Amino acid sequence: MTDISTVLCAWCGKTLAEVPLPHYGAPVWYGVCGSCHGGSARGLFPTQSLYGLSQPEYDALPFGLLELDPDGRVLQYNSAEESLTGLSRESVLGKLFFTDVAPCTRVREFEGTFRDMVAAGESGRQAFDFLFRFAEGDRFVHIAMCYEAVAQRAVILVQAAEEAGA
Ligand SMILES: [Zn+2]
Repeated sequence: MTDISTVLCAWCGKTLAEVPLPHYGAPVWYGVCGSCHGGSARGLFPTQSLYGLSQPEYDALPFGLLELDPDGRVLQYNSAEESLTGLSRESVLGKLFFTDVAPCTRVREFEGTFRDMVAAGESGRQAFDFLFRFAEGDRFVHIAMCYEAVAQRAVILVQAAEEAGA
């Protein structure tokens, strides 16, 4: 057993820090580096964790964030994600994301990636582009999906492509 946890940027995969094991003793953890999202977004970044933030902290993030348990049940759904999807937090918390919230994600590329990560039982990160199919129209987004195997939680970050910047 290692006694150091490596913190990786969820967006770019860069190593952010090596710190004494935080968060349930997980050897790999996910944050956001200072280079992604302009670096200075409201003093939020770099941050060494995207897990266990307060609701105001989640809602201050300049990108959509949802957190899922290994079954795909929604544990967190921040303000930016509400704006992006038009779905209120109250309407999605506790629901099964892939079947009840966003059926357009029931494809190999999205749900399949999530299921593979959970089945592997190891922490991991995947970044890909995706076309969300909303009632109001299609939305091209960048996705970063991170699974932390000790806590058994996934965070999925969503950034509308036209807002992604450089
Ligand atoms: Zn980064």
